[in-house]
Amino acid sequence: MLTKHKGIIKMKIGQKIKEIREEKDLKQIAVLDNQGQISQIEKGVKIKRPKEATLRIIAKNLDMSFEELIDGTDWSPRDKSKEQFVISPASYAFKIDDSGFISYLNSTFPKYNKNGDLTEFCPHTGVKLIGNCENCGREIEDSDYSFCMGCGTKLTVKWDIPEQINKLITPESLTDFGFCTENLEILIAISSDLVFWYNTLKNCTSHEDWVNVNKGMVFRRDRSYRPPSIREGKFEIDKKEDLNGMLFDIQLCSKVEKKLRKTLTHLTNTEETKSSYDKVYEGLFNTMQDMIHQNANTMQTASIMQFDQDKEREAYTENNRKLIESNEKSISMLADLLKSLDPDEDHSEIEQKLKSIKSEKISETQNSDEKILEEGNSETDAAEKADRNNKNAKNKNKKEA
Ligand SMILES: [Zn+2]
Repeated sequence: MLTKHKGIIKMKIGQKIKEIREEKDLKQIAVLDNQGQISQIEKGVKIKRPKEATLRIIAKNLDMSFEELIDGTDWSPRDKSKEQFVISPASYAFKIDDSGFISYLNSTFPKYNKNGDLTEFCPHTGVKLIGNCENCGREIEDSDYSFCMGCGTKLTVKWDIPEQINKLITPESLTDFGFCTENLEILIAISSDLVFWYNTLKNCTSHEDWVNVNKGMVFRRDRSYRPPSIREGKFEIDKKEDLNGMLFDIQLCSKVEKKLRKTLTHLTNTEETKSSYDKVYEGLFNTMQDMIHQNANTMQTASIMQFDQDKEREAYTENNRKLIESNEKSISMLADLLKSLDPDEDHSEIEQKLKSIKSEKISETQNSDEKILEEGNSETDAAEKADRNNKNAKNKNKKEA
């Protein structure tokens, strides 16, 4: 009996043992002191891959070396690495079905790589991976276990899917062009806020720090994401918990975003929705424009804010810098999406908008807030802004009508 193994035809280990044993005119029991076991090994049904120790005994009794015995056979050492998992407590594999139902598991990785090195840290989040139960030390045997099978200790935290994200991915948003676009816009805004607050909270070292960072922040009414609150005496505990929860939400957002984008591309390609194509483009363009404005506003506000202490000012400035950076990431994502949707395929309008960020960025990097005042074009900026806002209002009215 031959078996095809990775392109090379190899003999089954049981078959080889049987042939050599019969050649040497030996009884099964002479080869291994366990009749049932040697019979099973030779048949190769119940025991397909005998242990190395067993094969060494058999080889010795067949008067050959272990290496000679396994040579040319399908036998390979039991690869423990393939059976062992480590779980990331902070990285998740999400699934979204066509009705919008979201499920997830913690990401798992093989415990060892092919060189036999132990996998210790999550490649997505850098956190320490869980290979054993903290309480009883039992190894993790499967990827979707939340509790230790040895002692019932909780292995990973299970997070709820936040309502505000869940409601963006409905059967409607997966079939209707308008819903899909609208929800994608909301999602990008939530996601950008989340990333911003995650990075901000991560760098806070005390409750006071957190309060300072929040001071003076203006929350836009149309943005549904709010920074998490931190209890005064429980800063470290709350911070850890909040950061982990946010990390979950950020990954969820990214998955939902992918799903919506894919849906949008699919819907764009169908004939009957082509008429709404321009509307979508316009909607996304306005979102990008709004974000550019928000950045400009943030910088302007920063230059006129009054602070009692330098420390407060520093925290505020630093905070704004991050908000701006986070918005810029979203802006460039939107710009890429817009370019792929651009009906004229000339990206001049988009490029022009992006150019305006670059010039604003230069003024920002030059000696922070005073510089912006010095630039002296805040009036023209404001005028332009008013003009754009009017346009936006018009567009919105158009949409509603
Ligand atoms: Zn345990």
